[in-house]
Amino acid sequence: MRIVQKFGGTSVADVDRIRNVAQKVKREVDAGHEVAVVVSAMAGTTNQLVKWTNDILKAQKYPDPREYDVVVSTGEQITTGLLALALQDIGIPARSWMSWQIPVRTDDAFAKARIESIRGEEMIADMKKGVVAVVPGFQGVTAEGRVTTLGRGGSDTSAVALAAAIKADRCDIYTDVDGVYTADPRIVAKARKLDRITYEEMLESASQGAKVLQVRSVEMGMKHHVRIQVLSSFSDAPGTLIVDEDEIVEKALVSGITYSRDEAKITVVKVADRPGVAAGLFGPLSDANINVDMIVQNVSDDGKTDITFTVPKADKERAVDCIKGLKASIGYEAIKSDSNVVKLSVIGVGMRSHAGVAQRMFKTLSDKGINIQVISTSEIKISVLIAEEYTELALRALHTAYGLDGE
Ligand code: ADP
Ligand code: ASP
Ligand code: MG
Repeated sequence: MRIVQKFGGTSVADVDRIRNVAQKVKREVDAGHEVAVVVSAMAGTTNQLVKWTNDILKAQKYPDPREYDVVVSTGEQITTGLLALALQDIGIPARSWMSWQIPVRTDDAFAKARIESIRGEEMIADMKKGVVAVVPGFQGVTAEGRVTTLGRGGSDTSAVALAAAIKADRCDIYTDVDGVYTADPRIVAKARKLDRITYEEMLESASQGAKVLQVRSVEMGMKHHVRIQVLSSFSDAPGTLIVDEDEIVEKALVSGITYSRDEAKITVVKVADRPGVAAGLFGPLSDANINVDMIVQNVSDDGKTDITFTVPKADKERAVDCIKGLKASIGYEAIKSDSNVVKLSVIGVGMRSHAGVAQRMFKTLSDKGINIQVISTSEIKISVLIAEEYTELALRALHTAYGLDGE
């Protein structure tokens, strides 16, 4: 068998942990498998590197994304070399492959690049000789040979893309929890580990804030039918397998509850209620590359309407600046913005065939006196925006209300 193992930041946080990873790799090698290992930077390293790219600037507001990538991609180079050394040290032939050596080709959307192709012929030839390939997550290279990174949490995507490219039989994502839970186990103590979750639910969960897997890694796994498993670096407990819907016999109504603190709310007060206003507002935001997520519109008697929507927290200021420039074209009375919000989402494929799921969410929150500010739904999820201070209370109450609590 050929397998890809991926180890996240906490799993390679120091040399002892890297040696522990080497043992996990050794086990697969001893079992006779061809192994490629993808590693993240040591926990905290990428944050430090990002900070430096900002600290260095006096006159400019944002770093040039090409040089940003040159800096932030380096954390993974360190752990790649160290793991190759740790493997050699316990008698396992291993070598590092930087992204440009494989190469992992991406587009040139620096800081959020997408993988376009992975060649890997020489790497595979080397693996066939019994040499473990150690590969940095998160980084790629453009057709012009410039270094890119894939966005925060991108090592998951590196691993799944590599697994697809080298036709691996399995892609094991090792992290600091032993699988995918019904809610973030660091917040909801009664969260339960799932043995299996569908790609679709995992995709929705990741998009709605469960950072255990980067969204694109799930998309990639779904598209290329990669067998992904999430499991712990620190124990031997069985993990969570991501599977197609028909591989799950008993479908739960709700598979999980997620939260995202990454959104900010913006209200444009009293715009004219006439055709073209929404287009006149959201068009320029989209041109400015700002993703709008949830939207509500309220019409009042005087023919005016309030439009409320959410954007990524990091883009709030830019969004407000952009709307200020639209005063003449769409006309409004005021702009209000609020970063103290959290989006909670209830996710489950069972929702397609059952009514009342949303109602249970609204009732549970109202019983706790929590006001819902914005609602949005898709086929398999319901999201609400509430005040951030209620995050824990609301998550735990919903977890209980949907019967998800474990021991
Ligand atoms: P890594 O560094 O290994 O990539 P991450 O920190 O990116 O690890 O992802 C693992 C974290 O995801 C866990 O520590 C956990 O707090 C968080 N998490 C959020 N939601 C979930 C969930 N539903 N199941 C498991 N972990 C979750
Ligand atoms: N080191 C990168 C980050 O912190 C990529 C990753 O760990 O997945 O975002
Ligand atoms: Mg991660």
